Amino acid sequence: MPLGEFDLIRQFFTRRPTRAVLGVGDDCALLSPTPGYQWAVSTDLLVKGRHFLSTVPPQRLGHKSLAVNLSDLAACGANPVAFTLSLSLPRVDEPWLQGFSKGLLALADRSGIELVGGDTTAGPLTVGITVMGEVPPGQALLRSGACAGDRLWVSGSLGDARLALEVFRGTVALPAAAFERVRLRMEQPEARVSLGQALRGIASSAIDVSDGFVGDLGHVLAASGVGAQVDWTRMPCSADLMTQPESVRRVCALSGGDDYELLFTAPPGSDLAVQRAASTAGVQVTPVGVIVPTPGLTVHDAEGRPLDLVAHAGFDHFAPP
Ligand code: ADP
Ligand code: MG
Repeated sequence: MPLGEFDLIRQFFTRRPTRAVLGVGDDCALLSPTPGYQWAVSTDLLVKGRHFLSTVPPQRLGHKSLAVNLSDLAACGANPVAFTLSLSLPRVDEPWLQGFSKGLLALADRSGIELVGGDTTAGPLTVGITVMGEVPPGQALLRSGACAGDRLWVSGSLGDARLALEVFRGTVALPAAAFERVRLRMEQPEARVSLGQALRGIASSAIDVSDGFVGDLGHVLAASGVGAQVDWTRMPCSADLMTQPESVRRVCALSGGDDYELLFTAPPGSDLAVQRAASTAGVQVTPVGVIVPTPGLTVHDAEGRPLDLVAHAGFDHFAPP
């Protein structure tokens, strides 16, 4: 007998809540917010063929579905609290559900966030998660706070996820070990939650890089009414990406999506505080440029020449082909 909807929910997605007053099983979950805190709420939808390849192992997909949502909490500097899971599945595939829930719940446990509800339906494979977090009033990191003179920082390294995608597409070849490393960065990204929390009160603005550096930086610049000058030679790229020709490096690091690193600004004079926050979080951060008063983005090369950014616009699901 294949599992029914409610057995499936019970078997794979129901656990005793630790912090929530009431979790999965009733019409609503009940949460007790920390008095005085603000809620930080965000949703991300992952559709097969759009956001992930059919080849992704289910455990990694479970991880990634939550990680991309945690990344939004990270970008706001919020503390993860609870999440819901809306799942559309073509059929009940127990080994798949086993892997998916394992990856999802392992990351949830590690991140101190709990699954409190959701919805399950038959349909094309789609994963929708809504995360809820908390932040002290007025301390959320926003896209709109960048000021002229601020330094621009990036966590970790950019471009590996896109490099993996290009290998899948057959446009780039990598040795097996390197491919496995960049594939993990694409399929099992780490959200920079601790870094976001540590940057509260230090960073003036932040965003997570999900749609590409140039596009996501553009959102910060537009929201803040400023511009930026970026030094291409300082952009943090992994050793695997550094083996690639300059043209591939540019595409991956400037417009590759799915990096889930934090891009943030901080006032001049706060370099030490930023570095301390980064080492508390165990993440490397790199200064890549400066915020300027005049709107617009320039990325210049080693000779100081501006790069052509037309090809590096951020990802837009509804952009004409
Ligand atoms: P309702 O019909 O009242 O919306 P459902 O029958 O859809 O409730 O769901 C029953 C319970 O299971 C609810 O508490 C709901 O939040 C939970 N739930 C359903 N699907 C999931 C899922 N994929 N993950 C976690 N909880 C789920
Ligand atoms: Mg329902």
